[in-house]
Amino acid sequence: MTDWQAKAQQQKEDYLNDLIALMKIESVRDDSQATDEFPLGPKPAQALTIFLEMAQQDGFRTKNIDNVVGYAEWGEGDETLAILAHLDVMPAGNGWDTDPFDPVIKDGKLYGRGASDDKGPGMAAYYALKTLKDMNIKFNKKVRFIVGTDEESDWTGMKRYFEVEPAPTFGFSPDAEFPLINGEKGNVSMKLAFAGDNAGEVVLTSFESGLRPNMVPREAEAVLEAANTDQMVADFNVFIANNPITGQADVTPAGLKLSVVGKAAHGMEPRNGENAGTYLASFLSQYDIKGAAGSFITLLGKYMHQDSRLHNFDLAFADDVMGDLTMNVGLMSFDAHKGGQVDMNFRYPKGITPDDIQNKLSVVTAPLSVTITQGSFMVPHYVDASDPLVTTLMSAYRDQTGDDKAQPEVVGGGTYGRMMERGVAFGALFDHTEDTMHQANEFQPVDDLLMAMAIYMQSINDLVTD
Ligand SMILES: [Zn+2]
Repeated sequence: MTDWQAKAQQQKEDYLNDLIALMKIESVRDDSQATDEFPLGPKPAQALTIFLEMAQQDGFRTKNIDNVVGYAEWGEGDETLAILAHLDVMPAGNGWDTDPFDPVIKDGKLYGRGASDDKGPGMAAYYALKTLKDMNIKFNKKVRFIVGTDEESDWTGMKRYFEVEPAPTFGFSPDAEFPLINGEKGNVSMKLAFAGDNAGEVVLTSFESGLRPNMVPREAEAVLEAANTDQMVADFNVFIANNPITGQADVTPAGLKLSVVGKAAHGMEPRNGENAGTYLASFLSQYDIKGAAGSFITLLGKYMHQDSRLHNFDLAFADDVMGDLTMNVGLMSFDAHKGGQVDMNFRYPKGITPDDIQNKLSVVTAPLSVTITQGSFMVPHYVDASDPLVTTLMSAYRDQTGDDKAQPEVVGGGTYGRMMERGVAFGALFDHTEDTMHQANEFQPVDDLLMAMAIYMQSINDLVTD
């Protein structure tokens, strides 16, 4: 039997060189720079172009589809195994100890935006495929390594791919965790809109928190006119001292400015973060803020704060196989002139629908001045654990790691796996490694990435050879 881990070790230098070159590109979707040629802004397209040049040099057939998605292909056959990765990254945010776009290896860990989501794992899968190709192994199927450039927002690229290219037979996405994810919750956002009026003793001038619906906000800021500024500052300092956050109060010409810093995390499990926005709203909810501003603060601070399982909305729900309904408050903004907005992002198992969620929210929020709009949604996705795709990948994982107890899992994160009826997410975060996706100081141990590469080698080999 081939020693896949030794094969992966042999790729280490080339792999890290190519990976670091891609990580240096700040491939964040930027709508402010969108053009007809680069619909997601120039940087995601630049990462795609550079990757496709690498793949072409490596001898793959490549295609760039409209600068939003592309692929590297090898092998022949009627069936296609697809590997779906992405080259866009989340905005860096603050709190980094090193430059997020100048990767460094410290204590065996590769630090930088994209190390773990998803350039590191994606390129590990690509190098697995490249190694098999270079070993002249005969494939009985086509393998397409497909890279999207907008995974973190709307999946523009990967959706385009599935519109214009034939559907693959089956596939996996190296964009989550090991051992394997064969079920993904549905995903829907409810957008709450508020007017801008104030009517209490304390006037909320502005409130801002969050970068993306699928991220627990690390920072929040509010500007207010307080009835008693000194008292509010004293209260705030006590609140900060008693909670797992930091913060600052400043008297500015615009009013009293309160800032909170919590902990960012992926929105699919809000319990892994500390939501700066709902903490700040929770603090403010003890004051006399009325009108639409009051509704905004009450909903965030009294209902949504630390309620990812929605007990306060009478919406606590769990499915035996797929787990809990969860909610992240990823975007909060209020402006006394323009009004307020909140994005509640839900991950829902089978057994409940977006309409059920919206109906319950409407009941609870009826006494408050707010309107609720449902965003587009993704339905729950499930591939049977006995499907040969799942069993083959699980065997590869068990063989390489020696972890025989591992079982396929269901998670809240929507990965590209769901783009295919027989699609799963497979790696590359190991149980023993901290999840830093979407966070400051994102990293992945180099040894983990090489182990992932070995697992992908065996997986692809076993799926495409007789
Ligand atoms: Zn990702």
